[in-house]
Amino acid sequence: MRSEREASGGRGRSRGRPPRARAPPPRAGRWRGMAPAAGGGCEPVALHGSLGRARAAARMAGLGALLCAVGALQWDARRQWHGVLPKDLSTVVPNTAHLFGTRNPAYRLSVPGQASPPSDVLAPFGEAILTEALRVSQQEGGTVQDALGRIWANFCHGDADGDGATNGEELGDPCCTWVPGVVPPYRVWNITNPGSRKSMLTREQVDELSPSSCEAPGGREREEQFAAQYYMRHESDHLSGDGLRWMKYPCFAAVAALLAEWARTGGLLHDLLGVGPRARGAARPEEDLGRLERAVICAAAYVWTDGVAGLTHLSFDFAPRWYPIVGTVATGFQFHHVHPTAWVVVPLPVMLSHSLPLLGLLASACTVVPQRRRFRAFWSLTMVLCLVTVLTHRWVHTPPDQQYAWFRLLQNMGLLMSHEHHMLHHDSLVTQFSNLSGVTDCILDYIATRWLPPTHYQQWLTITLLYFAVPITLGSDAFAEAVRRRSGRVSVAGGWLLSEDHSAKVV
Ligand SMILES: [Zn+2]
Ligand SMILES: [Zn+2]
Repeated sequence: MRSEREASGGRGRSRGRPPRARAPPPRAGRWRGMAPAAGGGCEPVALHGSLGRARAAARMAGLGALLCAVGALQWDARRQWHGVLPKDLSTVVPNTAHLFGTRNPAYRLSVPGQASPPSDVLAPFGEAILTEALRVSQQEGGTVQDALGRIWANFCHGDADGDGATNGEELGDPCCTWVPGVVPPYRVWNITNPGSRKSMLTREQVDELSPSSCEAPGGREREEQFAAQYYMRHESDHLSGDGLRWMKYPCFAAVAALLAEWARTGGLLHDLLGVGPRARGAARPEEDLGRLERAVICAAAYVWTDGVAGLTHLSFDFAPRWYPIVGTVATGFQFHHVHPTAWVVVPLPVMLSHSLPLLGLLASACTVVPQRRRFRAFWSLTMVLCLVTVLTHRWVHTPPDQQYAWFRLLQNMGLLMSHEHHMLHHDSLVTQFSNLSGVTDCILDYIATRWLPPTHYQQWLTITLLYFAVPITLGSDAFAEAVRRRSGRVSVAGGWLLSEDHSAKVV
């Protein structure tokens, strides 16, 4: 006679409760140490277990890295500043945010000559500002801090570094008309450091970049000067280096391995193009993605990529060069404002490879946080669209009459960014950041002009990290499993997230 313990499957139960029905034990594998896999094949238990443990460890490492990055950015944003002058000079002199290489010419760098954070030791340019503010405060009354906001009209005509160009000519305000928040400077391009003789403009260059008369600056003359800088080719750009080349090979391998795996077992090509094997477990035609689902995935990927193009562009345009890795990418973005066509003259494969660090990180995240079927299609499309973004940006820097007819057609349809749209970015440097089509620029511009200025790069980098982390989490198997466990009754959103699993077939 069998004991109660044996009848209940070998585990003790409280008296009086009927034993629960148990699922039948899994069918034994063909060999010892093998267990049946979802698709009917066999996978080594030990291999499966070690892969799962490695993935879990990588997930924890990724989460730790994300938290560390956000923490470091927030720490940097809240760091105390002990300098005499403000860390952000944007209310004292114009265009300091667009000064390539050193954002704050008033202070020396922590490590002289290198891309290090500014120390709180004044540089000669900072001493010149302070001297002028002291003079104004003694002459007109008030504190030195108040006087800092009023010195530009006079200070603009001076030449702090003695290189022959005035402070105003070097900082884009040759007529000295800039008033913070009221009158913009004449130009935001070809800005040089008014505190360094190494960064200078010759008299001939100053004439090319300034209005012929300060009586009525602007108009057609300014437009022509802007277009000349926007399309100008520089011989030196053919020799530009690639600081992140070492990182691109593993990133390419990560992207290729992920897409190959998704195509082989995840039915990626079948879901996107209707060719190739179906997703494992989705053997019947009625389990294919419908046209509407594909359209929604394509539209979501298009809008999301437009947003990520804008967010990364905004963040790297203002991120400091001394940040590890980020600083190397930021140097390239900021140099683009100095030589816009450097982007065009490099070979096409090299230019496309500039996307690999971002795509490699995305692919690595999707490898350690396995994604669900619709999200796999979504991420694959975003990777393709990221490359389209790079191509679009390249082509809007060649004159429209030299451009492919089909590209012009897509521009005219509003599907890809127009020349005019991108020129607005180079003419302001604080708006129109997206390089795919610009459909999300209105959102980004609204936030950047009203709530969070682009110079708050720590917050924008944090938002960019979250912009990736949130959909990766929502699209993960683990998230859907957690939602299913927590609630038998799911919301509409939860139902959508779980709908792939209702048949328990698609992995
Ligand atoms: Zn830019
Ligand atoms: Zn550009």
